Amino acid sequence: MEKQDIKNFTIEELEERLAEIPAPPFRARQISEWLYRKGVLEFSRMKNLSKDLQKRLDTVFYVSRPEIAEIARSADGTEKFLFQLTGRGHSPSPTQTQYVETVLIPERERRTVCLSTQVGCRYKCAFCASGKNGFTRNLTLAEIINQLLFIRFKHNQKITNVVFMGMGEPFDNYENLVRAISVINHSQGLGIGARKITVSTCGIIPGIARFQNLGRQVELSVSLHAAKEELRRNLMPVSKKYPLKELVPALADYTRKTGRVITLEYLLVKDVNDSVDCAEKLVDITKHLKAKVNLLGYSLVAGNNYRAPEKEDVLLFANRLTQKGIFVTIRKSRGNDIAAACGQLAGKRKNEI
Ligand code: SF4
Repeated sequence: MEKQDIKNFTIEELEERLAEIPAPPFRARQISEWLYRKGVLEFSRMKNLSKDLQKRLDTVFYVSRPEIAEIARSADGTEKFLFQLTGRGHSPSPTQTQYVETVLIPERERRTVCLSTQVGCRYKCAFCASGKNGFTRNLTLAEIINQLLFIRFKHNQKITNVVFMGMGEPFDNYENLVRAISVINHSQGLGIGARKITVSTCGIIPGIARFQNLGRQVELSVSLHAAKEELRRNLMPVSKKYPLKELVPALADYTRKTGRVITLEYLLVKDVNDSVDCAEKLVDITKHLKAKVNLLGYSLVAGNNYRAPEKEDVLLFANRLTQKGIFVTIRKSRGNDIAAACGQLAGKRKNEI
């Protein structure tokens, strides 16, 4: 029987799987501490397991190692990691190397990691490099968790916050997203509080409907980027399938059921979605949803004609919202010198192959 990657099981799943080894369920928690708390990659180093159990585990499982292709460091401290997927446990095309990227954003006492959930993305948002590269496949649970583990143990510093905002649409890989949240949040996993975990969607309504029944206090943010139907359709083709007239009620339902405040992400693009009218429509939606807005100035991506706004344009747009009583945060654009926006590094690598 082919060995399985032990990181492709949640801690609860591993408890059940151990019965077949056989080993008692509490061993799953010990193994998880070695994997996620200590970064151990060999069963033989799991000192509180008997030699016999170490051997039996070794016949059924292996422990995957993340393989890094490139690390880029920004002058502002942001680091971007390009992972090369090895293909063990799944079958990437032998002719195509697959890459996925992850960003570490240190800010004062916070260390936020932006995780990817897919190789590429099928949604083709106009300003996004990941969409341009097309969709290849979903990441496994182990491939999602390994991004975090590599960064955690490379610097030997705790990760405080996790955002699912890298390559891919998290709700399109729903099962592995939820399983990854379970490992990240678990006290014998990475032990990161649910409120420190944010899932960002481009507006997949069935995913939002499922997520509201998850029963964890995980944050939800939605990439809105336009509050007018036609403009959003142009910027985000996903809006043809899930238009604002259906998305907004779905989000209102989410807030009603969970009692949680949604964040609306708004990427400000010069002369595209920065008009007074755009701000007014955004105010209407935000007030209706009792949401907050996270504003970010667009940074240039090769291959499109969009222009970045000046700092003053971003402040002016933010003021138009705050004057109407909307809570707005302005996200600093980080890592511009290392192509830190989603998909840029992987796209560059793909073009070089
Ligand atoms: S912004 Fe997100 S949903 Fe849109 S193409 Fe990029 S990765 Fe996909």
